[in-house]
Amino acid sequence: MMRLIRARIDSAALRANLQAIRARAPASRVMAVVKANAYGHGLVPTALALPDADAFAVARLEEAITLRDNGLKRRIVLLEGVFDAAQLAQAAQLELDLVVHQPLQIELLERFRGPRPLPLWLKVDTGMNRLGFRPEEFRAAWERLRGLQPAPLQLRVLTHLACADEADGGATAEQLERLRPLVAGLEVELSIANSAAILAQPSTHASWVRPGLALYGVSPFAAQRGAQLGLRPAMTLESTVIALREVASGERVGYGGVWRAQRASRLAIVAAGYGDGLPRGIPSGAPVLIGGHRAPLAGRVSMDMIAADITDLPPVSVGDRVEIWGSRLAVEELAVAAGTIPYELLCGVSQRVPIELV
Ligand SMILES: *Cc1c(COP(=O)(O)O)cnc(C)c1O
Repeated sequence: MMRLIRARIDSAALRANLQAIRARAPASRVMAVVKANAYGHGLVPTALALPDADAFAVARLEEAITLRDNGLKRRIVLLEGVFDAAQLAQAAQLELDLVVHQPLQIELLERFRGPRPLPLWLKVDTGMNRLGFRPEEFRAAWERLRGLQPAPLQLRVLTHLACADEADGGATAEQLERLRPLVAGLEVELSIANSAAILAQPSTHASWVRPGLALYGVSPFAAQRGAQLGLRPAMTLESTVIALREVASGERVGYGGVWRAQRASRLAIVAAGYGDGLPRGIPSGAPVLIGGHRAPLAGRVSMDMIAADITDLPPVSVGDRVEIWGSRLAVEELAVAAGTIPYELLCGVSQRVPIELV
């Protein structure tokens, strides 16, 4: 079936990015973060495309269930843990690794009479102030988990960095300083680094790294693109020209008529809109790629369509392919134009867009 829009996922790029991450953090195991539908790349296809990842990480139990239902046998870490006894029983049955970040979760574990011990990750809040035990609560939480019956299969420690993408590593250094005394003398596997820390702060690598964005070939830094970091963008969001239009100078285009032709103009109407996950806030002037040429958007993003100004392009036909972002037009660039971050663009690709793994 001919598809107007699709997200083409380059599985070789995913694997190359995993290798690039391993080269940066050679002493660490890699927990591939595939939450939020693998940042829009498709949860199951992405996980299956990465047979060499040491583990996968998801945010929600449903995501882990989907992976197990699709035959994924490897370690899966549930980053937000479980919230009631039924979830805990299900997580145990699926042999998930659980993050434990608050007392409620310890109580659930203490009451749980499961068939087998669970692998646990105790989360410490070293400065993000979102999830995790505060440093002064760490020791008590650690002891309670060690005292579980049966004892945890493994007990590991993780923390999350708030500012790893900042060139000034001051905030990260402070977080590491809060962590250090807590784990000094404990023979424990540690996980600290997200993509930005993997790429920029080797002192955070520890036993396990947790790349998300970098795995997808995209840069977590505002000033750099994935390609500059040795990564390959895995997703190309591709659509199709569905109509052509000529407008006279002075005519307006799209909802609200916010774009007005400054000259006689040719437009390509492209099947991609906010119903596919393009933010409505992408302004006129932001580029798409048609036949390898950059064409600026003209007027508002609507639900199913955008218009691109092709006046300066060689002839374009109905049916021509359009790159919204991907291997030749960096999602980082569109994110800047749209006033957002590449994470949000990638995760926002909607269910209507078929994913094709190549
Ligand atoms: C999402 C997430 C990551 C991955 O972050 P990236 O910046 O995409 O690499 C790592 N750790 C935790 C706890 C997360 O929630």
